[in-house]
Amino acid sequence: SSIPKIVILGAGYGGVLTSLRLQKELNYNEADVTLVNKHDYHYITTHLHMPAAGTDNPENARVNISKLIDEFKIDFVKSTVVQIRPQDRKVILEDGTLSYDYLIIGLGGESETFGIPGLGDYAMNIRSINSVRLIREHIEYQFARFKREPHRTDYLTFVIGGAGFTGIEFIGELADRVPELCKQFDVDPSLVKIINIEAAPTALPGFDPELVEYAMQVLQKKGVTFRIGTAIKECTPDGVIVGEGEEIRSQTVIWTGGVRGNRLIEEAGFETMRGRVKVDEFLRAPGHENVYILGDNSLVFNPEGRPYPPTAQMAMQQGVNCAHNLVASIRNQPLKTYAFSNKGTVASLGKGEAIGVAFGKKYKGRVAAWLKKAIDIRYLFIIGGIPLVLRKGKFF
Ligand code: FAD
Ligand code: NAD
Repeated sequence: SSIPKIVILGAGYGGVLTSLRLQKELNYNEADVTLVNKHDYHYITTHLHMPAAGTDNPENARVNISKLIDEFKIDFVKSTVVQIRPQDRKVILEDGTLSYDYLIIGLGGESETFGIPGLGDYAMNIRSINSVRLIREHIEYQFARFKREPHRTDYLTFVIGGAGFTGIEFIGELADRVPELCKQFDVDPSLVKIINIEAAPTALPGFDPELVEYAMQVLQKKGVTFRIGTAIKECTPDGVIVGEGEEIRSQTVIWTGGVRGNRLIEEAGFETMRGRVKVDEFLRAPGHENVYILGDNSLVFNPEGRPYPPTAQMAMQQGVNCAHNLVASIRNQPLKTYAFSNKGTVASLGKGEAIGVAFGKKYKGRVAAWLKKAIDIRYLFIIGGIPLVLRKGKFF
């Protein structure tokens, strides 16, 4: 009989970890593995707030896939998936078709706009290398524009919608970048506004209240204005409409108000909640024994029945579990159930500042910032060993 075909969609945290484990565990000719990704690089999503604000180079947030996987063991296809056809066991790419015996879907999330008018058209998102390049250039351009039209102070108002971890990490970087931009463009810093708008009664809803308070103090000291308990109702070419109809004029709206799964998954006929599939205990789509769903595309519940937030940490652990189960399936061995093991959460607030909960303890300030660096370096080590740590690791 022919050897089984494994197709992995997406080289994000889930897809890369699955690939790395498979290339290690599979024997020669035990399976045919193909990894498909839109770009020929993997991006380190957890770094994207830095290049978005311009405090780091986008190059530091991406790695060529050929440097990560062994192309003698895994075929890499640079292409965009346009359709998944589980009934035919096929995936349609923009430039071809792949058939599979096992499919792993790790296409990552998309921005969730909750149907709020104008967000799709006028707001920007922190999602990929291309999207953060746009944000970075756009911000610089506003400073340059202001010099030509000095009455347009709205060019210098930056609105961030959502104070989840993405929004908070981004404003930490942006607040660090603004003084540099003011110097570079000879702009009076008192004219620049960074406004973070959050609908919930608190920033970082659900996170440790003492650390949230600390984070807000740090960011306010750097010049950030919070509008907590205020929902964005609409985004227009001139800014945002919030609360009961108040307009905040701005040419730069960054929407970090939520993530959903990839639309291709619901289009394929899988049952989803906000684009995410409630996977079984082995990470498979219900009713599809040969389809595994990872990361931001999957929905996993904690023992109390509440969904875990989609994180890189979760996607990585799922990738390891998924590879194990693929090998077990091929060898007719029992599958292993997946259980999320939470190692903690650490979020950056800009240079030298962070907050976090890890190993059952709270951290803030410089110690938390070191912890964040250690987590980043650990990830580089896991996917690319010492050479990658030396090339992309930021030690200071
Ligand atoms: P992703 O990592 O998003 O990868 C999806 C891949 O699929 C990408 O390579 C993409 O190019 C590719 N792809 C998408 N569509 C197609 C298509 N149609 N065809 C082909 N390829 C396609 N989580 C943490 O745990 N810790 C953190 O510190 C943290 N920080 C974050 C900071 C920011 C700014 C953001 C935005 C997120 C952060 N997260 C963090 C969340 C974390 O990044 C995600 O949960 C994680 O990336 C999900 O991994 P994934 O494998 O599901 O998908
Ligand atoms: P999120 O869903 O966690 O946060 C979105 C925020 O936007 C929420 O606080 C929500 O109340 C707010 N919001 C929604 N609608 C709004 C509206 N109309 N007006 C104003 N505010 C509105 O999204 P995220 O921050 O992008 O995070 C996505 C996932 O990635 C999460 O699971 C998060 O834990 C993870 N993440 C982790 C880290 C880290 O660990 N350092 C960093 C970034 C992201």
